[in-house]
Amino acid sequence: MNLDVQTLLIVMMINMIALSVAMPAIMGWRVSRAARCAQGSVVLQTLGWSALVLSGQFFDRPLSILAMAGLAAGQALLWESMRGWLGPRPGRALVWGVALLMPLGYGLGFPNYPFRVGWANAGLALQMAWVCVALAWPAPQASRRWRLLIGLCLAAMAVATAWRGVLGAFFTDSYPTFRAPHPVNVAAMLIGNLSLLLTAVGMLVAWREEAERALQLQARTDSLTGLLNRRALQLSAADLLAQARRHRDPMALLLIDLDHFKQINDRHGHERGDRALQLMSRLLQSALRRGDLAGRWGGEEFCVLLARADADAAIAFDQRLRERLARHSLAELGFGLDFSTGLATLQRDDSQLASLLHRADAALYAAKDAGRGRMLTTAAVPVAERRPAPPRVPDPTH
Ligand code: GH3
Ligand code: MG
Ligand code: MG
Repeated sequence: MNLDVQTLLIVMMINMIALSVAMPAIMGWRVSRAARCAQGSVVLQTLGWSALVLSGQFFDRPLSILAMAGLAAGQALLWESMRGWLGPRPGRALVWGVALLMPLGYGLGFPNYPFRVGWANAGLALQMAWVCVALAWPAPQASRRWRLLIGLCLAAMAVATAWRGVLGAFFTDSYPTFRAPHPVNVAAMLIGNLSLLLTAVGMLVAWREEAERALQLQARTDSLTGLLNRRALQLSAADLLAQARRHRDPMALLLIDLDHFKQINDRHGHERGDRALQLMSRLLQSALRRGDLAGRWGGEEFCVLLARADADAAIAFDQRLRERLARHSLAELGFGLDFSTGLATLQRDDSQLASLLHRADAALYAAKDAGRGRMLTTAAVPVAERRPAPPRVPDPTH
């Protein structure tokens, strides 16, 4: 069987052109940064390969330099897409540094064939190896399968590329050009074609995984406030409760309800009401510590779980939130906003979240009844009264 390197090169170029058109066509333009980087990487590498193939026919030096710039920038964008899908990884300066220095050194040293072949292939192999490192770097939320697939392709490409570099730099006589019918060139082109196909599959799986994660997040969060929704909060709260019971830690559950919110909507409009809910959520989130939970329980009602917090810690939290809300609501909404809180602290026989919720709800009801703008516990003992309860007006019917 005679495998012609030139034909394999042209097939590779045609495949790459097809892929760089097909990827944006099926994924669309409105995709995440990671997916856009993956698309951009394919386009740049296609330009690189095309320039390399054409450089054999005309404009050898400029087209070859352009080819190296395209291939190196394509690898850097591939690294960026991995960073987008997998989270921060080390070595960004390295991939971009090589993307800049490799074509520069290649252009300057162009007349020296062994140098330029060794330099360019070493740079590309280093970049490919570094993308492999980025793929192997821990990313607990991403599946291993597509990472392994792309990693294996790139590792094979890196070996073939490094091999070419060594042959070109140190065994120039037996390796005149990358188009020569040398076994390494045949192997490199076969690996290149196969890698292209499998890397494209890996990228599409990574993209699907990203979409799945976004959907899961959407199902857990409240779209207006960005807080956990009721169902997600209940699930996470059950875990927190189990942990607190296991370690015999204190825990506090607060049900918070904005006061007279119907009037706020009526007076200032529904849209400003929405902004008030968003402000409240933002302040809630900023007042939480790591490990605490907050969610939108219903319309203008929020549920907060404070881990390792006793009643005093809950009082301090409530007070802090109340002060911040008073300050920010006046400044940002143009009207004051207040809330009532029902507090329940974890007791020995609270095996279910429901019993804490039940007590917090009763306390919230009592706080509303006692004049609003305060926090009460189940025993209806005021734990954080900001202002005295309004004097009770004797009922003339009694
Ligand atoms: P209270 O002090 O007793 O809690 O009185 P309230 O007016 O806050 O309570 P009520 O339950 O009578 O009314 C709650 C209001 O919250 C009515 C509803 O229109 C409003 N609300 C619920 N969800 C939203 C929302 O997403 N956006 C806006 N703007 N308003 C909402
Ligand atoms: Mg209310
Ligand atoms: Mg309510």
